[in-house]
Amino acid sequence: MSDCLFCKIVAGEIPCTKVKEDDDYLAFRDISPQAPTHVLAIPKQHVPSLNEADDDAMLGGLVLFARDVAVEEGLAEDGYRVVLNTMAGAGQTVFHIHAHVLGGRAMGWPPG
Ligand code: 5GP
Ligand code: ZN
Repeated sequence: MSDCLFCKIVAGEIPCTKVKEDDDYLAFRDISPQAPTHVLAIPKQHVPSLNEADDDAMLGGLVLFARDVAVEEGLAEDGYRVVLNTMAGAGQTVFHIHAHVLGGRAMGWPPG
């Protein structure tokens, strides 16, 4: 989508600090980190949010890709959180589906 921030990052039109990439997914560091490790994992395909997602393989692949990012960032043993904020009421500000991978500190529950 031409006016989507994350599609522009996928296209290389906006720079990012890349963490991991394959044919279908990209992971890069969040510009405003909320934890010592805060990476965004996205499909290269534009899907606005979890509400519109209907591709099992894409969604499963996104979760496994986020898991691999967490492992490679050294978070697997101490723990990490994978979050998909969905719609504005849950804090979604960029309407290209993305999984936050957060770790490196203790996480509170319930989340804010
Ligand atoms: P959301 O609030 O939609 O769940 O998450 C969007 C995330 O994208 C936020 O954590 C925000 O800090 C991050 N973000 C917004 N603009 C940019 C950008 O230009 N580059 C990067 N790397 N992250 C961004
Ligand atoms: Zn997009």
